Amino acid sequence: MDIAQHYEQEISFNSPWLQFERTHFQKHQGNSSCDVAIVGGGISGIMTLYYLLTETDKNVLLFEQGRIASQASGNNAALACIHIERPIQELVEEFGIEKTRQSFLEVDQSWDLMLDILDRVGARSLLKPLPNISLAMSSKEVLLGHTGREKYNREFGRTKWHYYVDEKIDVAFDGVEIHRIPKEELLEKLHIVDDEFIAVAVPQEQLNLARLNSAEFCFAVIDFLSKHYSERFTIYEESPIARIKPHLLNEAIQADDIILCTNGYKGFEIFSETGARFDKLHNALTPREGYMAAFKDTREPYAQAFFDDRGRYKDSPYFYLSHIEQFTVLGGPEFDQPDGIHTQEKIAERALTSQEIYREFLKNSYNKTDCPFSHFWMGIMGYTSNGLRWVGQEPEIPGLWYNLGCNGIGITTSIGAAKRLVALIQGQKLPASLFDPT
Ligand SMILES: Cc1cc2nc3c(=O)[nH]c(=O)nc-3n(C[C@H](O)[C@H](O)[C@H](O)COP(=O)(O)OP(=O)(O)OC[C@H]3O[C@@H](n4cnc5c(N)ncnc54)[C@H](O)[C@@H]3O)c2cc1C
Repeated sequence: MDIAQHYEQEISFNSPWLQFERTHFQKHQGNSSCDVAIVGGGISGIMTLYYLLTETDKNVLLFEQGRIASQASGNNAALACIHIERPIQELVEEFGIEKTRQSFLEVDQSWDLMLDILDRVGARSLLKPLPNISLAMSSKEVLLGHTGREKYNREFGRTKWHYYVDEKIDVAFDGVEIHRIPKEELLEKLHIVDDEFIAVAVPQEQLNLARLNSAEFCFAVIDFLSKHYSERFTIYEESPIARIKPHLLNEAIQADDIILCTNGYKGFEIFSETGARFDKLHNALTPREGYMAAFKDTREPYAQAFFDDRGRYKDSPYFYLSHIEQFTVLGGPEFDQPDGIHTQEKIAERALTSQEIYREFLKNSYNKTDCPFSHFWMGIMGYTSNGLRWVGQEPEIPGLWYNLGCNGIGITTSIGAAKRLVALIQGQKLPASLFDPT
């Protein structure tokens, strides 16, 4: 059986986050005009819509090429968290302490904004707390990377961590307290059997981390907006935007402002005022596929991440799990699509590779051999050239704005980003941020 047949017969993607009744929206036809056009109907687009409607009096049209929240926002690990993938100490070195502090402040505030929206739209029950959190580390180098963040976690008032290290490992870190414990105790803390891990970190206080189905959240927000602002917005599905010129989409839709909430997708062209093609965004984005699996299990709710730099698992230097209501979600393998090409055959190949990696990981870490996946799914993340989200105006194209580039984590952070963007679009002057488009 070749890979394509295998794909047809054995790999059917069935994200657990899209198993609910979803409203359909009409296709766009003819000519239109609006104050603001949003391109992309994932969580970034919906949160941008939310703030445009609740904080301005603008008329908004939102265009989605497929269905609302059916890409990354319906195919992720559903972990609401406030985090930037790049190490904090690296960001301080590159951008300076004040800009980094300001950006983490905004990221951290996203959590409260999310709670506020969940309450306002009556969807707080979608947020499911994850109380037991641990990070497993395979080497001194990985440990050093994590303890290096502590100085800034403390300085920026972020959650601090306890570090437990195998007593046989000789390490000392400035200003970070290390608890030395026997290996057996370490493995017990992690609930694993893989004795090659040498350290575990656990938060010293409650960490803002919870499970949130971001697709369901998008629909709850749309329901709310439909009740209160229906006269000021329209959502179109199956309405791809192929060409963007200043203030004009697809030669048919006029908009004072155009906001791209397109994650890592590049299936459109942008033109400048002179008519020249503008490729800056396309050149800056690398889409990356992430493959996820879920299985039934019985344990107390937990979230766990494994940072493994031993090269033991091809294509997966880390794994992350979350477990609630007897349902474990497992993430890890990721693959770049540098040319934007992802044929069905290639996806099938990577899906099979990912399943093999997951089985190996579950066997080595938990001694689990009989663990059928009830769900298996894949989503695309857009990585920008600087590894940071772009939130703000494109200086070279009048009226063009970005709220995109998930860079691995984007459920909660897209909310603070949408709020920032809507403040900027109203002409507010905000402190410089790591997210300003370069
Ligand atoms: C496997 C995986 C696991 C993840 N896990 C987590 C996690 O646990 N926690 C977390 O915070 N983040 C996680 N993320 C990231 C998070 O899912 C994303 O940051 C977030 O969903 C991105 O939302 P978005 O709206 O920017 O993108 P999307 O949800 O991808 O939405 C972009 C939309 O734009 C549309 N679009 C693109 N081009 C056009 C066009 N030309 N015309 C019209 N529409 C267009 C697309 O169809 C798409 O619907 C994960 C992502 C993946 C893939």
